[in-house]
Amino acid sequence: MQQNKNIDIKPLEFNNTWGYAPAPESAEPANIKPRYELFIGGKFIEPEKCEYFNSINPATEEVLSEIARADIADVDKAVKAARHAYDTIWSKTPGKIRAKYLYRIARMLQERAREFAITETLDGGKPIKESKDFDVPTAINWFFYYAGWADKLEYAAPGKTPKPIGVAGQIIPWNFPIMMAAWKIAPALAAGNCVVLKPAETTSLTALKLAELIQDAGLPPGVVNIVTGEGATGAAIVNHPDINKIAFTGSTRVGKLIQKSIAGTGKKLTLELGGKGANIVFDDAPIDQAVEGVINAIYFNQGHVCCAGSRLFVQENIADLFIAKLKERLKTLRIGDPMDKNTDIGAINSARQLETITDYINKGISEGGVMYQDSCATPEKGYWCKPTIFTNVAQSATIVQEEIFGPVLAVQTFRTIAEVIEKANNSYYGLSAGVWTDKGSKIFEVANRLEAGVVWANSFNKFDAASPFGGVKESGIGREGGLHGLLAYLNL
Ligand code: NAP
Ligand code: MG
Repeated sequence: MQQNKNIDIKPLEFNNTWGYAPAPESAEPANIKPRYELFIGGKFIEPEKCEYFNSINPATEEVLSEIARADIADVDKAVKAARHAYDTIWSKTPGKIRAKYLYRIARMLQERAREFAITETLDGGKPIKESKDFDVPTAINWFFYYAGWADKLEYAAPGKTPKPIGVAGQIIPWNFPIMMAAWKIAPALAAGNCVVLKPAETTSLTALKLAELIQDAGLPPGVVNIVTGEGATGAAIVNHPDINKIAFTGSTRVGKLIQKSIAGTGKKLTLELGGKGANIVFDDAPIDQAVEGVINAIYFNQGHVCCAGSRLFVQENIADLFIAKLKERLKTLRIGDPMDKNTDIGAINSARQLETITDYINKGISEGGVMYQDSCATPEKGYWCKPTIFTNVAQSATIVQEEIFGPVLAVQTFRTIAEVIEKANNSYYGLSAGVWTDKGSKIFEVANRLEAGVVWANSFNKFDAASPFGGVKESGIGREGGLHGLLAYLNL
């Protein structure tokens, strides 16, 4: 594959100290095939209607590969393959053998980590340093962690007899493709279930590479099936009568549709939905560390993070200083070619998502917010959004209330704990929050009163396979990760 020549990482205008020489990763190890079929019953097969769609590189708009579009008939085949594997093999396979397969998948993913990271960056637009240092290692950790549980299910639910649920339908979004696939597949297999997984339309490649790896690992055919396609493919999984559980990660809008369509069917459900995380900085916080934390909370992965700290609350007496420091730091973020090892901010995942973010930015301005963006250049081709800060925003502003899923931070101030708790909890969402303060007692008080599934203290966006993750309110139902994530795939 050719390295893109249209992307020119220009040194930022204001300060040449931060202009780095380009350090591009080679695209060659990605080894992307021109076409990918559906992975059903251990084989790669053509879709019934022989329809394909393109997966593009959002940083260059180049077509990377053609991906099979699965319709109802293909999904039916996948579910039948999963059911057959469940009935004949997987439900009878001892836990220690299931563990061996999961360890093998984890180790093979380690061996091919570079290829997966590069593919993830090419297909999704995220900076290569994030794919390499976060996405792929986290995915590997999930397989190792749940491999450890596979032969210890009776200890997961003492006094009960845990049994697998059967066939799980799993639908994932485009922001952390390989990581989300691992979060779904590893606990399901450890618990003894078979799966039909659908990646998001814009980022199917690493899931399909995982299918190849699973084939190489010798996993019995049909235990994992991967069907690609758009929303309709996802709906076909949700509505298939022989699915026992749906695990969905995505928007609250689609999560609600799914909840309606499976009502009364007896299918089990976990939903990991949207968020509007509050990041709260008190005047006694270590300010420079908090600035770094805020930058990480909102600009990591271009803000394509469900638990992003997209609402910043700064205590009023330090607000001017804090915002000035934040803007200074923004100037040093390098935006551009995601394949460059120095890039901090990569490409927006799709033209559609860029349009959504741009609409929100325009709305923020028209509703009276004051917008700040650095003057840095962005490449001509591809989808880009400069890191953005909004000040002077009202609690009722659209950009304070709604999830943008882009690098846009809304800043508000507060005076007292009571005030900030009320503002932070004034949201339909309840996925994540952050608290920055020097006082442990304040951390406990605030964390206990925040309506959020996860609260980070003097840190943000920290994940561990042993730690449950998930939301309250309209951010979802159930938990992924840790023991909780395992129990979600068991009948007790
Ligand atoms: P989305 O539109 O809800 O899509 C998520 C997945 O569902 C995709 O695979 C999508 O397919 C599929 N889908 C679309 N319509 C469907 C339908 N009617 N029935 C079944 N499946 C359907 O969300 P997104 O825009 O891709 O992802 C961003 C959202 O995910 C954000 O709201 C974010 O907060 C949330 N998210 C949450 C977590 C968490 O752990 N809580 C983690 C990551 C992301 P196509 O994309 O191929 O159409
Ligand atoms: Mg793509």
